[in-house]
Amino acid sequence: MKAHERLLHYVTFPTGSDPKAGVIPSNPEEWEFARELVREMETLGVQDIRLDDHCYVYGRIPANIPDYKGPVMGLIAHMDVSYEAPSRDIQAQIIHYEGGDLVQNKDTGASVSPEDYPFLNNYVGCDIITSDGSTLLGADNKAGIAEILTMAETLQKDDSIKHGDIMIGFTPDEEIGESGTFFDVEGFGADFAYTVDGDAFGECQWITFNAFEVMVHVHGFNIHPGSAKDKMINAARIAAEFDGLIPDSETPEHTEGFQGFYHLCEIHGDVEQTDMEYIIRDHDFQIAKERCETMQKTAEFLNHKYGEGTVVVEIEESYHNMEEILKDHPVLTEIPLAIIREMGEEPDTAPVRGGTDGAFLSFKGLPCPNLGVGAHNFHGKKEFAVIRDMDRTVELLIRLVQRIAEQDKNI
Ligand SMILES: [Zn+2]
Repeated sequence: MKAHERLLHYVTFPTGSDPKAGVIPSNPEEWEFARELVREMETLGVQDIRLDDHCYVYGRIPANIPDYKGPVMGLIAHMDVSYEAPSRDIQAQIIHYEGGDLVQNKDTGASVSPEDYPFLNNYVGCDIITSDGSTLLGADNKAGIAEILTMAETLQKDDSIKHGDIMIGFTPDEEIGESGTFFDVEGFGADFAYTVDGDAFGECQWITFNAFEVMVHVHGFNIHPGSAKDKMINAARIAAEFDGLIPDSETPEHTEGFQGFYHLCEIHGDVEQTDMEYIIRDHDFQIAKERCETMQKTAEFLNHKYGEGTVVVEIEESYHNMEEILKDHPVLTEIPLAIIREMGEEPDTAPVRGGTDGAFLSFKGLPCPNLGVGAHNFHGKKEFAVIRDMDRTVELLIRLVQRIAEQDKNI
């Protein structure tokens, strides 16, 4: 079976994760998909298959090199899809793309325009999978799962492809930041892994943001506006003042590449109480820390003005830049980069402007670069996957497992 045929089947499982659920898996329907993957892995010669209490699926493709002593690699993808767009009743379709707007639905006018998404021009002449424009597609990350299992099928059929032990891990709830929470690094048994969860084919990423979450609570004092003079403390206005003191040039809408930011994600409140939720991101840990300090100082300044305790800032670290770990294992990225070049593509090593499953796992002892799956526009209705590039990703994985098997155990 081809990888895209698997994808077309997988997207029929509505596995949108739920940030408010408070349990893992956050969507009980992830179980259905996990069981389906277990059934499929059983037919592909995957061994030691395990579906655990939190809906993590593990398996092992045994080495076909006698007495194999080389490195054990892992491949990881996530089963949930984003909650940021509808993910039920996905009507996937294959469109032969000849340039211009990629029309998802003639009746609704849903389409992907190369003016907004110039990378579409790379795929003229390709077959592209999209939804009908009313839902996301779910190539993030079901394309990754499809590619890993298509690789497994190829290895099962062709014993001349020599490889070491390959561990497979499919996680729930990556989109709500929980995929690593119950990941059994020790039981997984790999020396390192690749998350197959990037966008375009050719992406190989090992630099992520450092991430902090900042809650800002503004406590006001409400009194009838007619008799409020010198008494009222308007929390909503102070919150607006707080945000006004955050450098406008350091926000997501004004940054790119290696530039980090402050991002006001949510604000709700009234005169009495207003709460704001920010995230702070930067590839440089020190700069991210300095942004946290700026927020503390801003609170101090406003407390000086309006009274102690008016503005309270709570900061929590979310994840670290995995480059800190991966810089000690350069071979893990050099090998896929070389293969991508051999396959005629210039690798895209741009830093991730976000985190990955691997950012968390790398710090749990499983160094974990990220590879592209051949898809774009994740988390939205314009998401699409390119069949040719899904096939090329399978080819990359097949070459990768062979190359890894030739390395020293202490890679
Ligand atoms: Zn993903």
